[in-house]
Amino acid sequence: MAIDKDSIGFGTRAVHAGQRPDPTTGAIMTPVYLSSTYVQEEPAQTKGYDYSRTVNPTRTALEANLASLENGRYGLCFSSGMGAINCIANLLEAGSHVIAGNDLYGGTYRLFTTLYEKFGVEFSFVDATCVEEVTNALLPSTRLVFLETPSNPLLRLNDIASIAEQCHTKKRDVLVVVDNTFATPYLQNPLSLGADIVIHSTTKYLGGHSDIVGGALVLDDEETRDLLHHYQNTVGATPGAMDCFLVMRGTKTLHLRMDRHCDNAEKIVDYLSKHPKIEKLHYPGLPNHPQHSLARTQMRRYGGMISLELVGDLDAGKRFVTGTRLFALAESLGGVESLVDHPASMTHAAIPREERIEAGLVDGLVRLSVGVEDVRDLIEDLDRALEGV
Ligand code: PLP
Repeated sequence: MAIDKDSIGFGTRAVHAGQRPDPTTGAIMTPVYLSSTYVQEEPAQTKGYDYSRTVNPTRTALEANLASLENGRYGLCFSSGMGAINCIANLLEAGSHVIAGNDLYGGTYRLFTTLYEKFGVEFSFVDATCVEEVTNALLPSTRLVFLETPSNPLLRLNDIASIAEQCHTKKRDVLVVVDNTFATPYLQNPLSLGADIVIHSTTKYLGGHSDIVGGALVLDDEETRDLLHHYQNTVGATPGAMDCFLVMRGTKTLHLRMDRHCDNAEKIVDYLSKHPKIEKLHYPGLPNHPQHSLARTQMRRYGGMISLELVGDLDAGKRFVTGTRLFALAESLGGVESLVDHPASMTHAAIPREERIEAGLVDGLVRLSVGVEDVRDLIEDLDRALEGV
C-alpha cells in the first residue's frame, strides 16, 4: 500500500507505512529476515540486499515506517538510541563546535563529554529553553545544535521552530537535531517545525513494550542521509531483524498507547498537584509550566512522563521510589508498564553533581513513566507510597 504522508492519517500510517503483504506467501506481517547475507546472481548483482549490516529487508520496512510517522523522507535504524546519536556525532571533526541543551539524557551528555571532547569537538551546554541563549552561542565552527524536547528528566521545552529558523538564518550549514524520544511522532514532528534530523530511542515509546533496545534517525536531506548511512554501515551499530520486527509491531499501536499514556498522566498530575507532600511538579500540560504555551502549540498532547520533587527532598524521594508496588523502580521509560526512576543516582548519574544542580536537577527529583494500566490502580499505588514518606 503506497502511503502518501500528506493525506493519510497517523494511525493508518502507523499500521501500514513501509509494509505490504509478503509477495511470495501473502503473510500480512513483514517477515523477520534472519539472514546475514544474500545470494547474488553474478558478482555485485543483487536484489538490493547484499549483507545485513549494510541493509536488511525487515529494517528497510521499519525505516520507511518511522520516516512516514515523522513526516520525513529517510529513516535509519540503530541497535540503540545512543548508536543513533553517535552516528550524528560522526558528522563532526576536530574543531567542530556543538551547542546542546543543558538538560539532556545523561548518556548523551556522557557521549559528548567523555568521547567527542577527547577528539577535539567543543561543546557549549546552554539553557535551550531560551532561543537567544542558543543563537548567542553560535560560532563560525558550530556544526550542530542538539535539542531534547521535552527534556529528560525536567520536561523542559525548546522552541524548535524559532531555534531552527534563527540558527538557519544566522548560519546556513548548522544542523538542528531534535531528540524526540519523549514526545514521539504522535505528539510532535520536529522536521515539520524546521529541524534537520530527528532522533529516537526506539527502546521507549516506539517499541513500547520494554522488550528491545534500539534507535532511529529520520531526515529529509539525501546527501546527509547518504553520509549517515555510510557511518551507520562503517561503525556497524545496526539492529537485528527481530528487534526491527518488534519495533514495527510497537509502532502499529503507537497512537492508541500514546493517548492512554497521556490520559493517565493527566489524571495523575491532577491528583499529585493537590497532594500536600508534593513540593514541585514538572509536566508540560500544567498551566504553570514555564513553557506551557509553547507546549500547546508545539505538541499535540503533553505525554506520559512526569517529574516531581517531594517535601523532604532526597530522603523522601528515596522512600517514595522504593514504596511503590505497581510503579517498578527501573531505568528506561515509554513501555506499557509504569516505572519510577531516581535520576540523580540512576539515569543521570553520569552528569557531575554541580552541573546537575545548576541545571535544576536536584537530588530528590523523581521521574515517573506512566504506563497504560488502569489509572485508578496507579493513583492508589502512588497514594500508598506517599503515605509511607
Ligand atoms: N535519548 C533519550 C531522551 C533517552 O531517554 C535515552 C535513554 O534513556 C536515549 C536517548 C538513549 O537511548 P538508548 O538507551 O536506546 O541507547
